[in-house]
Amino acid sequence: MNHIGMDSHISTLEFAVVNETGRLVKAGRVATSINGFMGFVRTVPRPRIIYIEEGTLAAWALETCVRFGEKLVITDPKKNRWIGSSGQKDDPVDAVKLAQLGRGGYIKEIHHPVGQRRRFRELMIAYHDAVRSTTRIKNKIKAKFRHNGITMLLGLKDYTLGEVWGGGNRVTVKTEVKGREKCPHCSSGRLYSHGESKPREVVHTWSNGRRVYLQLHRRRWKCRDCQHTFTEGRELVRPRSRLTRPAEAEALWQLKDRNFIQVTRMKYTWASMSIASGIRSWYTP
Ligand SMILES: [Zn+2]
Repeated sequence: MNHIGMDSHISTLEFAVVNETGRLVKAGRVATSINGFMGFVRTVPRPRIIYIEEGTLAAWALETCVRFGEKLVITDPKKNRWIGSSGQKDDPVDAVKLAQLGRGGYIKEIHHPVGQRRRFRELMIAYHDAVRSTTRIKNKIKAKFRHNGITMLLGLKDYTLGEVWGGGNRVTVKTEVKGREKCPHCSSGRLYSHGESKPREVVHTWSNGRRVYLQLHRRRWKCRDCQHTFTEGRELVRPRSRLTRPAEAEALWQLKDRNFIQVTRMKYTWASMSIASGIRSWYTP
């Protein structure tokens, strides 16, 4: 057993290490810090035990030792002086004497409530964990609400909406089909995956002067019964259309009372958004 006496001051810690035969094998001085403290202690071979006198730094030393799994004994200065000092009452017991007293078994230990401290620490950790998971759950719920809100605004309840990005005059929403569709040729549900079609952007609606695009991520399916392959999401957008069905309906509604010139003007107002092609595709099979 190595006995480590520690004399603690506000700015420095002094150490003396005495082995089982009572020989001083090491001494040192480090800055008062957890790194300095543990740095020195770790250079002393195990088994080792640290002695410190009760004082302002005792609680700190104990907490540090508990945290790093070191054995620390807090001693009673009065008793140490009585045994260790050479007659004079206020002669401080230094690190070497402390280590010698420890080796000799003359130490009267003062018990600090380590258990309670440890329990307190554990409770604090549990508390922080609880706060963290509450935040996580709150964020999940918020995300869910946000998602539901967007789904409702866009009227896309059979679709999974992902990221929303954009600026200027356009907003894009990542969109996927929720669940599985049936074969459009024979209504069979016996399908297997046949890859994914290339993501495509289609106009879905207008909001606040911005075109809202859906970036469609659609799977391809093959029917086990009729062997046809098809791309899902036909209910939302017809093949080759640049608008979703609701957008087409909206566009038609907007056009119904306008004459040709107005429509042409509108076409240019909406710049690259080609209403005409949207309408054209309505009539092409
Ligand atoms: Zn089929």
